[in-house]
Amino acid sequence: MLKKEEVENIRADFPILSEQVKGQPLLYLDNAATSQTPTAVIDTIVDYYSRYNANIHRGVHHLSQTATDAFEEARATLQEHFGVDKPHQIIFTSGTTHSINIVASGMSALLKSGDEILVSAMEHHSNIVPWQMLCEKTGAVLKVIPMNEAGELDLKAYSALLNERTKMVFFNHISNALGTVNPVAQMVEMAHRVGAAVLVDGAQAAPHLVVNLKELGVDFYTASAHKMCGPTGIGMLYGKEEWLLKLPPYQGGGEMIAEVTFDKTTYADLPHKFEAGTPNVCGGIAFGAAVKYMNSIGLDKIGAYEEELTRYASEKLLEIPGLKIYGTAENKTSVISFNVEGLHPYDIGSLLDQMGIAVRTGHHCAQPIMDFYRIPGTVRASFSFYNTYEEADRLVAGVQRAVNMLQ
Ligand SMILES: *Cc1c(COP(=O)(O)O)cnc(C)c1O
Repeated sequence: MLKKEEVENIRADFPILSEQVKGQPLLYLDNAATSQTPTAVIDTIVDYYSRYNANIHRGVHHLSQTATDAFEEARATLQEHFGVDKPHQIIFTSGTTHSINIVASGMSALLKSGDEILVSAMEHHSNIVPWQMLCEKTGAVLKVIPMNEAGELDLKAYSALLNERTKMVFFNHISNALGTVNPVAQMVEMAHRVGAAVLVDGAQAAPHLVVNLKELGVDFYTASAHKMCGPTGIGMLYGKEEWLLKLPPYQGGGEMIAEVTFDKTTYADLPHKFEAGTPNVCGGIAFGAAVKYMNSIGLDKIGAYEEELTRYASEKLLEIPGLKIYGTAENKTSVISFNVEGLHPYDIGSLLDQMGIAVRTGHHCAQPIMDFYRIPGTVRASFSFYNTYEEADRLVAGVQRAVNMLQ
């Protein structure tokens, strides 16, 4: 658990947290959309462009070697952080959306009509739409693992959906709209019993939990650097080696080939097979720096603090008459989605913005969840380890003030 002084020191690492918005100190509670960037990561980016910006893997010259080494070192940092056997099981992508599309696109060569794939009811659109496109292409059938009122997946229904036709299962580790933490290891084991592969969308879990991919047993896992103190436009796809070998490449181009003739092209080994073209070299290196920064604090401490802070803010918010929280799972963290009776989430969000408080309003790229609760959207406050208890109090006071103004 992080102590108050530790959090104060951490806040000093994030220049943006001293910004003023609308004449007030910024209160940033949109961390589930993107996290803020510490000086250690900003410095890494400046250092890259100031000292060794070059294309990688191809050049014999010094700068290219330096950039290649730093890029591959970042891959090794991710490999170690996520408990992965080999560095080439970490593919650099532009983010979770790109990672999922690599798998969905590749699976179109491996699925046939009548195969079944399962997706959970609480997915981000980026973990729904690629699979719908895959079904259109292959004739495979998409089935939905339902959830209950609390926003927990119905494991009995999941078990009933699994059968020998089930080829793949997709769900998120943590829901970005509800904060629910799904029981990954258990769900993976159930899928593997019928021979189905599992892709877990870890965009929302990687910033908050210690994630050991070998222990979880997943076949594929995704993360986005910009949700874990890194820059935008860079992320990763993890795959079990057997799957990455089986999956056809996503894009053709430079860097991903072994040999090209006009008759036939053979593909490069992992990870290059999936990294066509010049990658986001600086982004990859900065992603490594972001993971190192978070580990210097300790993800277990970060996770415990955020869970407590979320619980504290939830209890305080519920004291506001007419306020309802969506997503009340036993195991949840960092996200509070709520509405106040009779008020539109957008109006509350706009008034909070006037007070310098950044929250998100809308469907959070998870429309099926909003349909489930029969609401147009929610106000979502999402916490990070640099948020404080005083800020949670300021949020609650801000919401109360907004409610008084609107009612
Ligand atoms: C943010 C998010 C995504 C999309 O990530 P991108 O970085 O925008 O590709 C997907 N799934 C979940 C659960 C997310 O929180």
